[in-house]
Amino acid sequence: MTRVFNFSAGPAALPEPVLRQAALEMLDWHGAGCGVMEMSHRGKEFTAIIEQAESDFRELLAIPANYRVLFLQGGATQQFAQIPMNLLDGRAADYLVTGTWSKKAFKEAEHLAGGLGGRVRLAGSTEADGFTRLLRANELDLDPQAAYVHLCTNETIHGVELGEAAYLPATSAPLVADMSSHILSRPVDVSRYGLIYAGAQKNIGPSGLVIVIVRDDLIGRANAVTPSVMDYKVMAENGSMLNTPPTYGIYIAGLVFQWLKAQGGLAAIEACNIKKANLLYEFIDASDFYENRVERGSRSRMNIPFLLRDETLNDPFLAGAKAAGLTQLKGHKLVGGMRASIYNAMSLDGVRALVDYMRDFAARHG
Ligand SMILES: *Cc1c(COP(=O)(O)O)cnc(C)c1O
Repeated sequence: MTRVFNFSAGPAALPEPVLRQAALEMLDWHGAGCGVMEMSHRGKEFTAIIEQAESDFRELLAIPANYRVLFLQGGATQQFAQIPMNLLDGRAADYLVTGTWSKKAFKEAEHLAGGLGGRVRLAGSTEADGFTRLLRANELDLDPQAAYVHLCTNETIHGVELGEAAYLPATSAPLVADMSSHILSRPVDVSRYGLIYAGAQKNIGPSGLVIVIVRDDLIGRANAVTPSVMDYKVMAENGSMLNTPPTYGIYIAGLVFQWLKAQGGLAAIEACNIKKANLLYEFIDASDFYENRVERGSRSRMNIPFLLRDETLNDPFLAGAKAAGLTQLKGHKLVGGMRASIYNAMSLDGVRALVDYMRDFAARHG
């Protein structure tokens, strides 16, 4: 068996120790006589699994007691709809658009707002600049009465990350953040947000699970048309188990949380993520063969898009990378070129191998 260095944007690589443990426990979890996929979600074994997962997740992110953690289905995309259903409350919400994902969230909210008796406003966009930077404070047109302000703190496709708390929009309205592709990659002050959500398949576990962290006072405002499985209040009251939750995904997420704790938690993983990202950006910036067009203060540590200045070399670059055990580097079609997604599970060795390959390829074709 050879495992490649997998740079997929999602579903993405998982930590190898997690996969090994899952393999060991596949047929018999802790003497239960069956695997996690085969057990009742209401039994004592799975109850222990989900409770441990929530407690480790809370500990990693230092989630305050007045927030609920929900393990839901439907991905981040379903949250694009669920958020206005639960939070719009017949009012207006502000959306900040800094890339494809926040634009999709805005479009979905716009599509639903009328039916929910509310409105959504575009409160700032960097689309005219090709989504190559964060919004600046003086570009925001915020409504102080907004039901909430939605933003995406890491744009997976464009490689733009809102890194420092100082950049957060100054507003008294609750901030609602899509953190799908950088959650758990760095510490975050949860108390600055009303709601945080993240699809699992980037930095948490398998697809099919989305985690929502929601402040107590934002629960219980759902529009009357909201289906029960989409109502945060109903899901919170039922411990995310109104219906059968994605049990295997929650189990793997729990193993990932334990792996993160064993790495030293989020401060330690952040230090490693900084090293990895710096290595790749410094190499790209020093090269005249490759290029990253994202403004420096806006660059993502997790998703690094880059272009070969000679685009006719894209296919040979990808073929050579694959032969060297470096996979899924093709960029998203909206941006073109390449993209290296270097989530928590990507090792520094993997990034070193990528940089070595890029240097070698440039030397052969430059
Ligand atoms: C991947 C991604 C999504 C979509 O996730 P799904 O689980 O496929 O719905 C939304 N937002 C961001 C930032 C993403 O990276």
